[in-house]
Amino acid sequence: MKNKIIAGNWKMNKTRLQAEQLITQLIPLVQDTANTVIVCVPFTDLQTVLALTKGTNIHVGAQNCHWKESGAYTGEISPAMLAELGVEYVVIGHSERRTYFGETDQTVLLRTKAALAAGLKPIVCIGETLAERNDGLTEQVLTRQVTEGFKDITADELSRIIVAYEPVWAIGTGVTATDDQANDAIAFVRGVFARKYGAQAADALYIQYGGSMNDANAAGLLAMSDIDGGLIGGASLVADKFAAIVHASK
Ligand code: PEP
Repeated sequence: MKNKIIAGNWKMNKTRLQAEQLITQLIPLVQDTANTVIVCVPFTDLQTVLALTKGTNIHVGAQNCHWKESGAYTGEISPAMLAELGVEYVVIGHSERRTYFGETDQTVLLRTKAALAAGLKPIVCIGETLAERNDGLTEQVLTRQVTEGFKDITADELSRIIVAYEPVWAIGTGVTATDDQANDAIAFVRGVFARKYGAQAADALYIQYGGSMNDANAAGLLAMSDIDGGLIGGASLVADKFAAIVHASK
């Protein structure tokens, strides 16, 4: 089994001062893990968090980026801007961006390509809604998201991407996918990647689970054969809860 990649998605939470407090608490709690620890923070916290985590095992990510390098895109941030700061990862296509900000598989692909070109490592989110699951469309939706959202992605690029399977019905709801539901969906997604990139590339690909993962359910989820880590929202806002998830898989 691979070591796990545990990423926190702070969403639109934590002022600069609050970020400083959280990171200061987190650093000693996760310093002895063999797992990879990432915090994806609001743009306004990036510089603070980058400075505080320098020389530690905590990696830093943003939560979105545009696909253009610069220009008349008011309110947007380019991959080059993030890379210049020293940001390593960027979340792309989170369901909240798909739902509230019109993100599509096509814009996910554009952002992913641009992030890769700037040297960032994208964490690309996919996942079905509750209605889609209830209608028996989960596999169809995941296949579409992978086929369309990774259309021009080369095998070399895929090796620099993390995929997060996040069923929309489990995000921020307190309803977690069961260990088997999460593992089955991720194994299915891995199979879709295997058909395009081959079994070796698909096996090497990190696919996280996200959706109400917490310190109580993380050990079970992370023990599953296909789950390579977690993307954690709410529980990443409290240092000891996030640290417990980091340590849930030894
Ligand atoms: C997320 O924001 O990606 C997420 C999984 O949130 P939560 O853990 O709060 O469900």
